[in-house]
Amino acid sequence: MKIIAIGRNYAEHAKELNNPVPTVPVIFMKPDTALLKDNKSFYHPDFSEDVHHEIEIVLKISKEGKHINEKFAGSYFEEIGIGIDFTARDIQQRHKEKGLPWELAKAFDGSAPVSNFVPKAQFSDIYNLNFKLDINQQTRQQGNTKDLLFSFEHIISFVSKYITLKKGDLIFTGTPQGVGKVNIGEHLEGYLEEVKMLDFYVK
Ligand code: MG
Repeated sequence: MKIIAIGRNYAEHAKELNNPVPTVPVIFMKPDTALLKDNKSFYHPDFSEDVHHEIEIVLKISKEGKHINEKFAGSYFEEIGIGIDFTARDIQQRHKEKGLPWELAKAFDGSAPVSNFVPKAQFSDIYNLNFKLDINQQTRQQGNTKDLLFSFEHIISFVSKYITLKKGDLIFTGTPQGVGKVNIGEHLEGYLEEVKMLDFYVK
């Protein structure tokens, strides 16, 4: 499986990092070794002084497809969850300045904690979903999918023009504002609507 992630998909987050609001989706990938499941602890890497949390809605692709028409893209995911796109912001900043790729900042081991997945059919409107990240019982990030710049269907259609999507692939759909540094010992809890989906520690 592969993990595809969308950068700058909430305008207020793009602005907080002084990035332009994109006119086409910004895409990057993480390898399967980035996955962190079952609320296992995240081990803070020693190569970064500034690992940021980015809470995101994650789609699980339910069938193979390429060149997917946006009109039918909704049938390519049945379940959603939440995840954290951990980002070594200091490394990313250095690479951005030089115009270099982001992998070392985004794709490292454990950089993609994901929750269990739940059927999207249980929600009356997937474009009015609240999600949030608490750290040590304080809310740090809060988002709602109504603020997405590019819809889930648009992302699936766009990505599948370039990269075949396969069953089990995950798509991180972008983070709202409020990103910040995580520290060893902190307790992270992620919620989708009222349900706690992620609950783990930084070690
Ligand atoms: Mg992100």
